[in-house]
Amino acid sequence: DDDDYNAFIEKPDINFSHIGGMDEIKDDIRIKIIEPLANPELFKAFGKKAGGGILMYGPPGCGKTYLSRATAGEISSKFMNIGIEEVLDMWVGNSEKNLHEKFEIARQNNPCVMFFDEIDALGSKRSDLRQSAGRNLINQFLQEMDGIDSKNEGVLILGATNSPWHIDSAFLRPGRFDRIIFVPPPDLSARTSIVEMMLRDKPAESMDYGKIASKTDGFSGADLKLLIDLATEEKLRQSMRSGKIEKITQSDVLNAVKKVRPSTKEW
Ligand code: ATP
Repeated sequence: DDDDYNAFIEKPDINFSHIGGMDEIKDDIRIKIIEPLANPELFKAFGKKAGGGILMYGPPGCGKTYLSRATAGEISSKFMNIGIEEVLDMWVGNSEKNLHEKFEIARQNNPCVMFFDEIDALGSKRSDLRQSAGRNLINQFLQEMDGIDSKNEGVLILGATNSPWHIDSAFLRPGRFDRIIFVPPPDLSARTSIVEMMLRDKPAESMDYGKIASKTDGFSGADLKLLIDLATEEKLRQSMRSGKIEKITQSDVLNAVKKVRPSTKEW
């Protein structure tokens, strides 16, 4: 069973330096999650204790998962990426049991960042055959989150939702998800640094990252990743033909811009 457990525990090798932009959010995570863990006495003196979580919302592909993973890397902790879908089970009581197990694994592996994607699915009717099922699972989640103070020591909780307006208000009480953060599409300066980061470890000529950023309005982080992947593949193909490394150029990247749809435009 241990092997099974370890299968969903990661030890991330990225940290905040791999995240472009998002300065305010990083700061929020530092003060709410990282510092209380590093300086428990200081926070206690100000009547603040570790615990509670941060809920993020915003368009898909803009770094909620990536940022959570980087948070774990920042404090050299373990990381669990938990989709609510994988917890849901049609049999009475099984979803609650699955969820409890995830929390137990995190507690045994502390410090550990737990990231819950699509947290609103907790209340979904698919969790089992009864009408009240969603409610039971929400209650289980809240109970796990409240914990007994010391029980959740070193267990840090981040959640993501695409529809914060549907979140059950019980989640939002102090000590629970008492901070809600909007994770916006990357702005011009964030796109500039994301593109630069993504090319950092590749054979690429130096280029005007700001220029690329200005041509990628509405691109999510995931769109930018696709953009760089396309430019990279093109150069890889050329290199295979010529038998030597052909560096990625600014015009390779600008040519690829036309092939990617800016996915946050409608948001
Ligand atoms: P979803 O709601 O679809 O789960 P998400 O907000 O969790 O989306 P991620 O999966 O974190 O999005 O981001 C997709 C990819 O985009 C990441 O793997 C990463 O490569 C890149 N990315 C997103 N934002 C950033 C960023 N600020 N800096 C660097 N890379 C980023």
